[in-house]
Amino acid sequence: MTGATRSLLPSFTPTGYVPLPPSYTLQARLDYILHTLVVNETISYQNATGQTLSDLVLAVEPNLWAGCFNLDSLTVDGQDVIILLNSDRLDVQPATPLVPDQVAYLQLRYSLDLPAADSHHIFGYNNLQVNLVDWFPSIVPYSGGWLLHPPANVGEHLVYDPANFDVTVTFTDPALSVAVAASAPVALAGGIWHYVLSNARTFVFSASTGYQSSLTTTNGVILTSYYFTNDKTPGQAVLGVVSKAITTFASLFGMTPRRSLSIVESPFYDGLEYDGLFFLSRDFYKEDDGTVLNDLVDIAVHETAHQWWFGSVGNDQALEPWLDEALATYSESLFYEKNYPDVTAWWAFRVDAYTPAGWVDTNIYHGGDFRTYANAVYLRGAQFLQALRGQVGDEVFFAFLKDYATQMAGKRATADDFFRILRQRTPVDITDIQHHFFQRIH
Ligand SMILES: [Zn+2]
Repeated sequence: MTGATRSLLPSFTPTGYVPLPPSYTLQARLDYILHTLVVNETISYQNATGQTLSDLVLAVEPNLWAGCFNLDSLTVDGQDVIILLNSDRLDVQPATPLVPDQVAYLQLRYSLDLPAADSHHIFGYNNLQVNLVDWFPSIVPYSGGWLLHPPANVGEHLVYDPANFDVTVTFTDPALSVAVAASAPVALAGGIWHYVLSNARTFVFSASTGYQSSLTTTNGVILTSYYFTNDKTPGQAVLGVVSKAITTFASLFGMTPRRSLSIVESPFYDGLEYDGLFFLSRDFYKEDDGTVLNDLVDIAVHETAHQWWFGSVGNDQALEPWLDEALATYSESLFYEKNYPDVTAWWAFRVDAYTPAGWVDTNIYHGGDFRTYANAVYLRGAQFLQALRGQVGDEVFFAFLKDYATQMAGKRATADDFFRILRQRTPVDITDIQHHFFQRIH
């Protein structure tokens, strides 16, 4: 259906009517040597809020770096608009407000002067790679208001609803021998990397002249591991780990909606998940000793679990980070339990060693430093899920996890959804556990 036709629809919607997800067409030209990116972006956005919108709000993460984001032009339906750019918030006021169901076409031209990444920021360039994460302006979700939280010192602040992506990447110097890791499988022809990704939270890519790669397929998902010279052994080992994790989680939670997953080594201090791609710290590769219980294996499993708890089942990462982080952490324990029943030290290695304290439902603004935050949200979160499992029993617990993953796939889950779906499965009273782990009882 065309945008023009859609805009004539009445504001009420018939039962079963599904609005179009936002659609992004991104044409990006990367100068790998100078670390600049020139982008043509088109967004097709249907107003599915049920309200007339006098403005649209986009998250522009590159603008958090001084001098990085340079906007050349922005139009809505071909018309100039009033814009206000403050920090990472871009307010766009179309010439006429968007009525319910109307489709607007935003066209943006801009360039990025990429920052030097450090061990705590993955965006930008380092001496090994160029990482494009949260690199394009994107319309933020709307829930009675625009959902754009400020950054914090810990955790992730962005909230993503599913969108469709059509991305082409080209390089200023076509003679450069560069490999690209991305959120989706590539169609490469004539120096153009073309990607199509549907119903994804975001699209990221990482380019390097130093990547080596290994590939396998598991449960219909193409896995590619990108690593650097001298890291072939851990780079290939991680492929086997992720393959096993996908098999385990597909059986426990249901199939991953992604056709591919890229695993990317990076001089970053930790692992970091995106849809269809995650980064793993170079330190983990260097410290890998071939054992089963180490950071390379454990964090690779954690980031793989985020393909379900973040990629498929979304959440407000700023205000309810436990919904993805507690589940991703507990999924690590399930990985060991199902694949290595003799390796029983996971709880000691990952959780007990930190004697975790704090409320599971801590948000990223009240988390303190990373250790305190992770202890509360990730580790107490894992303890909560283990306690919940003990209270309701294995059969109910695993049926609930699958149910929650299925019912909330492609949506943004809240704590209310979590406990509502749990109560559909069992009448068992869990008030004691809730009081023990949560500030707010749902
Ligand atoms: Zn995580």
